Amino acid sequence: MALRCVKVEKQAARRAEFVPRFKLVVGIVVMLAMGIGCRGGEPEEGFSGERALDHVRTQVSMGPRPPGSEASGRLRSWLRTELEALGFQVQEQPFTPRTPLGPVPMVNLVATLPGASERRLVLGAHADTKRFEEFEFLGANDGASGVAALLELARVFHSNRLRHTLTLAFFDGEEALVEWGPDDSLYGSTHLVDSWVENGLARKVSAVFILDMVGDRNLKVTDEVNSHPQLRARLREEAARLGHSRLFSGPEQGVEDDHVPFLMAGIPALNVIGFATSPEGVVPSYWHTPQDTLDKVSASSLEAVGRTVEACLRRLDRELLH
Ligand SMILES: [Zn+2]
Repeated sequence: MALRCVKVEKQAARRAEFVPRFKLVVGIVVMLAMGIGCRGGEPEEGFSGERALDHVRTQVSMGPRPPGSEASGRLRSWLRTELEALGFQVQEQPFTPRTPLGPVPMVNLVATLPGASERRLVLGAHADTKRFEEFEFLGANDGASGVAALLELARVFHSNRLRHTLTLAFFDGEEALVEWGPDDSLYGSTHLVDSWVENGLARKVSAVFILDMVGDRNLKVTDEVNSHPQLRARLREEAARLGHSRLFSGPEQGVEDDHVPFLMAGIPALNVIGFATSPEGVVPSYWHTPQDTLDKVSASSLEAVGRTVEACLRRLDRELLH
C-alpha cells in the first residue's frame, strides 16, 4: 500500500455517491428494528491473539509468497483446508493481469459462510508478499498479519454466527510488482470487485473491512481518511468500548490499499491498517525490508484488532438486519 493523499480528493467526491445509500439502509433498519439485543448464547471463546500469531508463524515458515510463487499456492491450500473445516465454502479466482513484468498469473481465494441473510459482510486481506529479488522478504506484518487475523475471525464467526453471509477475501497481487501506481498495485481486489459488479454481488455487500499490517508490536491504527466515514467512526467507538483506544490513536492519513476498488464501486469500505505512525507519514523502519519478521508482530496487537473488528461486525449485523 502507499500513502497517496492525492487520492483523497477523488475519494471524497465518490463518497458522496454512496453515503446516502448506506444511511438509507441504516434509517430503514432503525425504523423497523424491535430493539437492539445480543443474540442468544455466549461466544464460546473470543478472538485469540496467540492463535493468530501462530497463523503468522505458519505463513512466515512458508517463505516469501509473491504472486505465482509455489509458496503462494501452498498458502492457499492451507487456508482452504482450515476454512473448509470451519464450514466455509472456498473458491479460487484465477486471473492473469497485465503488469510491468508482462502477464502474471494470480489467484484470489474467496471463502463464504452462509448466514440467514443474503446481505454480505466482507473481510479482506492481501495474501501476497511484495516481490524482492535482492533479499528474502517474509512479510510477517505486511502480508501475514492480515491473513492471520482473518483466519482467527473465521473461527470466531463459525462458533457464533452472524445473520449476514460472511465472505473472507484473500487477495493476490496487492503489492506492486515493480513500482506502486494505478497500473501496478491492487490487482486482486480490483479483479474481485469487477467480478462482483458484473455478477450483481456488489449490490449485496453491506460493508467491507480490509485488514493490513495489523500485528505491529507498537501498533497505532491509522485513521484512514478514504474509508467510509461511518465505518471509521464505528471502528473507534468499538475500540474505545473494549479499552483499545490507545492502539487506535494513529494519525489521520490517506492510504491506498485494497479498500479503494470497493469504494470506487460505491461499496462502503474501511481500511484497518497500522501504516504510518506519525502525521508526517513515517512508516515502521522494517517496512518492505528483510526485517519484517515474526519478532515485529505481537499477539496482543492482533487480539486488540481482531476483537475490535469482531465487535464492529456484530454491531453492523444487528443494525443492518432486523
Ligand atoms: Zn507492502
